[in-house]
Amino acid sequence: MALSSSFHGLTVWFVTGSQHLYGPETLRQVAEQSRQVAEGLAGLPVRVEWKPVLTDTDAIRRLALDANADDSVIGVISWMHTFSPAKMWIAGLDALRKPLLHLHTQANVALPWDEIDFDFMNLNQAAHGDREFGYIQTRLGVPRTTVVGHVSNPAVLAQVENWQRAAAGAQALRTLKLARFGDNMRYVAVTEGDKTEAELRFGVQVNTWGVNELAEAVAAATDAQVDALVEEYVASYDVAAELLPGAERHQSLRDGAAIEVGLRSFLEAGDFGAFTTSFEDLGALRQLPGLAVQRLMAEGYGFGAEGDWKTAILVRLANVMGTGLPGGASLMEDYTYDMVPGHEVILGAHMLEVSPSLTTSKPRLEVHPLGIGGKDDPVRLVFTADPGPAIVVALTDLRDRFRLTANLVENVSAPDLPKLPVGRAVWKPAPDLATSAACWLAAGAAHHTVMSTAVDVEIFRIFAEITRTELVVIDEQTTVRGFQQELRWNQAYHRLAQGL
Ligand code: MN
Repeated sequence: MALSSSFHGLTVWFVTGSQHLYGPETLRQVAEQSRQVAEGLAGLPVRVEWKPVLTDTDAIRRLALDANADDSVIGVISWMHTFSPAKMWIAGLDALRKPLLHLHTQANVALPWDEIDFDFMNLNQAAHGDREFGYIQTRLGVPRTTVVGHVSNPAVLAQVENWQRAAAGAQALRTLKLARFGDNMRYVAVTEGDKTEAELRFGVQVNTWGVNELAEAVAAATDAQVDALVEEYVASYDVAAELLPGAERHQSLRDGAAIEVGLRSFLEAGDFGAFTTSFEDLGALRQLPGLAVQRLMAEGYGFGAEGDWKTAILVRLANVMGTGLPGGASLMEDYTYDMVPGHEVILGAHMLEVSPSLTTSKPRLEVHPLGIGGKDDPVRLVFTADPGPAIVVALTDLRDRFRLTANLVENVSAPDLPKLPVGRAVWKPAPDLATSAACWLAAGAAHHTVMSTAVDVEIFRIFAEITRTELVVIDEQTTVRGFQQELRWNQAYHRLAQGL
């Protein structure tokens, strides 16, 4: 099955709470106005489906169970237009396993001061109806996102969209299958982790296959399949002359294309949305997969190098959450610094595997030796990530929990790098290199990250809330001292929050 790269078929339910006390006429108005509010959300990326107004415990619990059971429902938006006594919500909220957004809104924007009577007050009382709902959510410890404002306000819509994206990401991980070809790079610590805990926390199934099963799929690639891919490469990229059909190194390109055919068929046959490779374990593969991995990441697959399944999860997550937005997501690795005072930047790259979704320019397709792995020279796409805002996010295993660490960065244009033929990015980290790196190291965050040029940090914040995962963010406001305190408080909080 091919990888889904749209929100088509996904839904969020719009749920309004009330009670019978008001009588049928008021409830009719509640229903009509809540429909209008739901329609105000119609332009968002994920379809919003209005549900009939809920007025009692049994209906609320039934709705939660139905939402849980329906894979197309990625979350629930709730609003208490009137007063909905919140003990009616205990069973439903306790049962709900889908992300929840509490939309604290009103049907009207302005108050009709001259006409307000008590009927109006009774109908439009979310100001305290939603406070009752907030109480029960807090009392029950329900993870949720709260958005305040009228749906005609673009800032409100943007926040609801962020939540939809995070919920879609969480939903994608719930069904994600990740194939590892070989194990982690030997002796490396930070790419290790608890795969059983990851399946419970995020839903992702992480399992390993012998790389020669992949090599068999590569060997099964037909000449016609390879020809078709070569044609596509020539049309899509600025292909080095030596790789073109008939030229002396064309076989390298064909070997790279065969890897793509085999990898794709293996992933599709197993319904995998993410994968890892290891340069120490290439079996019968002729090259370290470079071009193929780059192209699959750009299509939406998750990928981690050296067996790094945690970063592969993040790349898939960022690809899903960024669906339809300009920019992309890629495995990235902090490689080396320019430490010239006042101009400090990070040069990030990998051996080969950086997604061309980070650039709008046409990549070069080249072949060069790789001083590691002991295989044939691999083909790869060469480019520099576009200048502009980006984010890098790492996922580390702290033994008793996972930690997400994010850094807001600014990709800048790079000088020519004639002797560095790989995909790369050059960025200024916020607030500055010294603070960013000191905080990153204090957090124990990895050298592998996902770099996203599409997804705002707020979307990651919501994702972290949904999955009850720690997230620390390094941004313009961050100081080393404050960050260290936050890490200490988080340590205590997350240990207490997870109970026994
Ligand atoms: Mn690496």
